Amino acid sequence: MHPDCERVLLSEEEISAKVEELGRQISLDYAGQELLVIGILKGAMIFLADLVRKITVPTYLDFIDVSSYGASSESSGVVRILKDLDYSIEGRHILIVEDIVDTGLTLNYLVDNLKSRDPASVKVCTLLDKPLRRVEPVAIDYNGFIIPDEFVVGYGLDYNEHYRNLPSIMVLRREVYMKGE
Ligand code: 5GP
Ligand code: MG
Ligand code: MG
Repeated sequence: MHPDCERVLLSEEEISAKVEELGRQISLDYAGQELLVIGILKGAMIFLADLVRKITVPTYLDFIDVSSYGASSESSGVVRILKDLDYSIEGRHILIVEDIVDTGLTLNYLVDNLKSRDPASVKVCTLLDKPLRRVEPVAIDYNGFIIPDEFVVGYGLDYNEHYRNLPSIMVLRREVYMKGE
């Protein structure tokens, strides 16, 4: 346990069992097809790295980096693309991989943006879902865990770029993120 965290929400073992299950389901659903996995930087990196190794259909990778306009820690709904995909997705089967869906504003924008590029299909896979915070509806095709409205870090998820390398998912102590406010 990291001292800045108040409890472990999801252990390494729970995460790895879930990732394996998701990989198995995705492999079944895309049997006979090629898959283009699109990772949303940087939070989804560690989940994506583990997930694609559990997928057995031919899989390609590309990455996109987005940021919400505005200074606050809350999504504003206006999304800016910091780094676009390297390749065209026209005619491809796309699976967007995200770390966590919170308000839904980021994914809502991204799904619309990618659909406008004429892929064969677009699906969404997220490790975590915080449905209590949803502002915009998002169709999630593959979800790891539904979690309560608490700020979590680890397994790729950060607070101010800290904690991404923690191997489990933990609830960050309020004092840590209330400090600067
Ligand atoms: P939204 O769905 O609100 O547009 O934004 C989702 C993004 O907000 C996630 O990709 C993640 O970067 C960030 N986020 C939302 N909730 C949490 C959380 O509990 N912990 C961390 N570390 N990031 C979060
Ligand atoms: Mg993210
Ligand atoms: Mg972040």
